[in-house]
Amino acid sequence: MPVTSSPVDHPAAALLAWYDRAGRDLPWRVKSGRAEPYRIWLSEIMLQQTTVEAVKPYFAKFLATWPDVTALALAEDQAVMTAWAGLGYYARARNLLACARAVARDFGGRFPETEEGLRALPGIGAYTAAAIAAIAFGERAIVIDGNIERVITRIAAIDTPLPKAKPEIRAVLEGMVPADRPGDFAQSLMDLGATICTPKSPSCLICPLAEACVARARGQATAFPVKPAKKGKKALQSLAFVVLDPQSRILLSTRPAKGLLAGMAEVPNTAWSAGPSGLQAAPLAADWQRLNQPVIHIFTHIDLRMEIAVARLSAVTPALEGMRWVDVGKLDSEPVPTLFRKVIEAGLRALG
Ligand code: SF4
Repeated sequence: MPVTSSPVDHPAAALLAWYDRAGRDLPWRVKSGRAEPYRIWLSEIMLQQTTVEAVKPYFAKFLATWPDVTALALAEDQAVMTAWAGLGYYARARNLLACARAVARDFGGRFPETEEGLRALPGIGAYTAAAIAAIAFGERAIVIDGNIERVITRIAAIDTPLPKAKPEIRAVLEGMVPADRPGDFAQSLMDLGATICTPKSPSCLICPLAEACVARARGQATAFPVKPAKKGKKALQSLAFVVLDPQSRILLSTRPAKGLLAGMAEVPNTAWSAGPSGLQAAPLAADWQRLNQPVIHIFTHIDLRMEIAVARLSAVTPALEGMRWVDVGKLDSEPVPTLFRKVIEAGLRALG
């Protein structure tokens, strides 16, 4: 297929020819045609901060449970949070639901077809709006994700550190995106970044953009993109309490509606702080045992060390206000995020 005239026609055409031949088969992707907006939106939200392999089973589960945006709009909050549990960055799940409801309510169940219209929906940022507009609606939108940043800074040897380099990356893409296949072009760059122009060992010898690539010509492929100096992360600690009652139930509560892991289920745990916590913070009196092995969990800005204390009760005890006893066999129907899943598993293992 011809592409629009520009000084970099040849690289764009070479890239699309490579994509037609070697692009990845992904469950949400339609090669040679328009993809369904719902599938693209759902996959793009899931893929934020998450790998393709991690997303695939969640994508399949969501599609089987809620086959279109109208079905998702009618879902219960708790059902969606539970289906999302384990995928992380839970604000995405809440925004997913808010967005589905907005599309159903305000647009009759059809996604707006422009980058601008999409951008106005909950949870759809600049990147996601451009990706949906290009891939599902064929708009000549400029799509820039991490893979595309890497490929473009290498092709053009852009040495401005990220994220300041964004306008330069955009300018290069403006000259490359073909009017007739903007969605395929974006996906071809994503695939190239994921499979050939990888962060540490790019395969320049088999790259369809090799001839046009300045970084390769200079023998400096891995020098790009230039990353900003890293800011320090916060190291925080907490003590979590896993308590089992005689009916094989554990004590859970729900995190506040705002902040990290908002609205998700948790076992009682002390405020996350720079110092250690003592057993006096336990939610009820019991023979608490501290485990030797903490759970270490890495968030974007926090390295969390969660110590664990466990106890087994000999009598059924009423749950404290705001907490509930949940059957261990029914934890799958609770929106338990990965951190607390690890804590509960470690606690139950210790309790035998
Ligand atoms: S030639 Fe090498 S550095 Fe340049 S885009 Fe291709 S894989 Fe990346």
